[in-house]
Amino acid sequence: MNDKTLPFDQKTIREIARKFPTPFHIYDEKAIRKAARSFAAAFDWAPTGFRNHYAVKACPNPYIIKILAEEGMGTDCSSMAELILSEAVGIKGDQLFFSSNNTPLEEYLKATELGAVINLDDITHLKYLEQIGLPETLSFRFNPGPMKKGNDIIGKPEEAKYGLTRKQMIEAYERAKEKGVKRFGIHTMVASNELNVAYFVETADILLQLLADITEETGITIDFINFGGGIGIPYRPEDNPVDLQAVSKGIKKRYTEYVVAAALKPPAIYFECGRVVTGPYGYLVTEAIHEKHIYKEYIGVNASMADLMRPGLYGAYHHITVMGKENDPATETYDVVGSLCENNDKFAINRRLPPIERGDLVVIHDTGAHGRAMGFNYNGKLRTAELLLKEDGAVQEIRRRENLADYFATLDFPGLP
Ligand SMILES: *Cc1c(COP(=O)(O)O)cnc(C)c1O
Repeated sequence: MNDKTLPFDQKTIREIARKFPTPFHIYDEKAIRKAARSFAAAFDWAPTGFRNHYAVKACPNPYIIKILAEEGMGTDCSSMAELILSEAVGIKGDQLFFSSNNTPLEEYLKATELGAVINLDDITHLKYLEQIGLPETLSFRFNPGPMKKGNDIIGKPEEAKYGLTRKQMIEAYERAKEKGVKRFGIHTMVASNELNVAYFVETADILLQLLADITEETGITIDFINFGGGIGIPYRPEDNPVDLQAVSKGIKKRYTEYVVAAALKPPAIYFECGRVVTGPYGYLVTEAIHEKHIYKEYIGVNASMADLMRPGLYGAYHHITVMGKENDPATETYDVVGSLCENNDKFAINRRLPPIERGDLVVIHDTGAHGRAMGFNYNGKLRTAELLLKEDGAVQEIRRRENLADYFATLDFPGLP
């Protein structure tokens, strides 16, 4: 259970909305910092260091990345734009992980320039990367295939496009060593939005076992182990957050068995989580602009699937609070919809809510990761602003909303702005 609270009341959010018109995403700085600290604290036992590399794709805003960098996080990138965002925030070297796939050469070049840790997704990319020269440090992404059951979002590992097979992993380290690579890491990511502690411990078990095998079979030392992202968040009120202390305890036990007891050099522990770091601490604030009564009851809000795609894309649940009616009985059953000409443009279907009137502020929870970031401009929809609710209660606009000139910027046609 979690109680789906908000960091603002109706009065505060109305004041904010007077200055910054709805719809907007607003992020809670205090809660983001707290989440970052407790993540690091859970792994303070790691003998040679711990770091989460925030997956930039979750919320690619430099103001957010800067806050996380201040809390000791690095970044995890998989595109040119994400590398440039990290660079602008001052993240480089080992703090910057490049976990891409199907990667174009210019992105490898940029990652190399920034001294990023390149995490190769395929054995053939070794040769590809040799065109620009191999870096001193390399990591490889393992796909455990049938060894591991997948989860709904990422699918079964043997059907996932990512990573190297076990046999290729061994070959890749041997080859990289021959070619002069000096430092090595190992990575896997086999889950997305997973809430089950045992899943992460089992993944760690597989990866630590492989680390031990690689050391034995190739004689190389692995300096860091990256357990990827995928830690889920409690989107539904009845979900429980992942107990990071329990994940840490489970991993520590395996780490002790495979590394400490075997007298291997202890690798630093990395994650590259995005969702769990910012997801619960962002809110899409919309206004009810229409009600419609046909075969079902509809509430139309002034945001759309272009601002939050998860419900339309995955049928994902996002909790909804009607401001000022937090404690009113949920007597109505609504579909809460946007204005796209797409019938899956619905934030909620058959949701029990208190009666909503035009002008009510309707807040959609858990939009701090894969929220605005996944947005798009289909149907000529302009994307929302992003606001930061600072620790002292002040509000900063950290990205303005798009305007029509932005939308038409790539067109050179008379009569368009
Ligand atoms: C998406 C992704 C992440 C982050 O996933 P979260 O669910 O946000 O934790 C990390 N690493 C890679 C390679 C990814 O593709």
